[in-house]
Amino acid sequence: MNILVINSGSSSIKYKLFCMKNLELLQDGLIEKIGEDNSSIKSHHEALLGIFESVKNFDSIAHRVVHGAEEFESATIITPKVIELIEELIPLAPLHNPANLDGIKISKELYPEVTQVAVFDTAFHQSMPKHSFLYALPTKLYEQSKIRRYGFHGTSHFYVAKECAKFLNDDLKKLNLITLHLGNGASACAIENGVSVDTSMGFTPLEGLVMGTRSGDIDSAIVFHLVNTLGYTLDEVDKLLNKQSGLVGICGSNDVREILNSSNSSSKLAIDIMAYRIKKYIGSYIAILGRVDAIIFTGGIGENSAVIRSKVLDGLDLAFNIEEDSVKNEEKFDKISLISKDSSKIKLFAIKTNEELEIAKQSYEVINE
Ligand code: ADP
Repeated sequence: MNILVINSGSSSIKYKLFCMKNLELLQDGLIEKIGEDNSSIKSHHEALLGIFESVKNFDSIAHRVVHGAEEFESATIITPKVIELIEELIPLAPLHNPANLDGIKISKELYPEVTQVAVFDTAFHQSMPKHSFLYALPTKLYEQSKIRRYGFHGTSHFYVAKECAKFLNDDLKKLNLITLHLGNGASACAIENGVSVDTSMGFTPLEGLVMGTRSGDIDSAIVFHLVNTLGYTLDEVDKLLNKQSGLVGICGSNDVREILNSSNSSSKLAIDIMAYRIKKYIGSYIAILGRVDAIIFTGGIGENSAVIRSKVLDGLDLAFNIEEDSVKNEEKFDKISLISKDSSKIKLFAIKTNEELEIAKQSYEVINE
């Protein structure tokens, strides 16, 4: 069986075609700048027609959906009812779910007879216990308005956790892990006996770590100050926190490679603030997990930057007997690299994530159930 994975975002669509027999990547591509002024591709419909023009030999289609809230705990075959539920979740993910839905609806229209599956970024985190996913807000906001921590990047956290278990030749259900997905968006996850028990992103992907353009954790009273004292509108605050903060806010760039090559003091500061926040999350997740078998770095930054990994791990030897092997940390690798010393109490890994492959695998499982 060949599965076509479609990741339909607001202005781009990524796709990958996998042969599920040997998990081989048969074809992939990316259509960008959909609907932008200077772009020849005006709509998601047009982009998908282009994709289906070049990809023919698929048996099923798997769609990435960002927000599944409490409705979806795992990959789900798409029915009219499922589409309706994803539509109802748009207020929780106004930037993401509409674009994901576009991909689903257009594919359904073009291929009504092909089985299609939705795989949700939030699903892996549905195992979080109440004391972890509830905010200390009046409970009616959860009960009536669904305000709680959901967490995102679930497909990536789960994928690298499984890869780690495979490498250790161990059962994931017995492992406690801290996974760090560090890309333009970034999140940490505490995994206990193979399931997510806490994660740094919250009600939206804005909470938690310092990201390319998002602030991560701040005192929410800053919002009142921005509006009431400094005269910002709420739309401006939204833009400020989601698009103009994080690394970009501190040093003007969200490209970590570029920032590391810069000698500006603001670039150094941006990296310091980002690494410091990650370190704090590692410490708190060790505290809640008690025993940790491995810490895993993934995402564009986590996979590629030995410098950032080293900075995050610096000093953790004293508190937690976590010992990086600086030679192994620098080595190039294909899929997975063990970067800790043998004497380290907690193993350290850099692992290449593959969200599309994980989406294909989960879809394959649900189709064969
Ligand atoms: P996205 O969240 O958009 O998928 P990625 O996971 O691709 O993002 O991560 C993008 C980030 O990874 C960028 O900040 C980029 O600079 C960084 N990155 C990629 N390669 C390297 C590298 N060799 N060294 C440091 N940072 C890198």
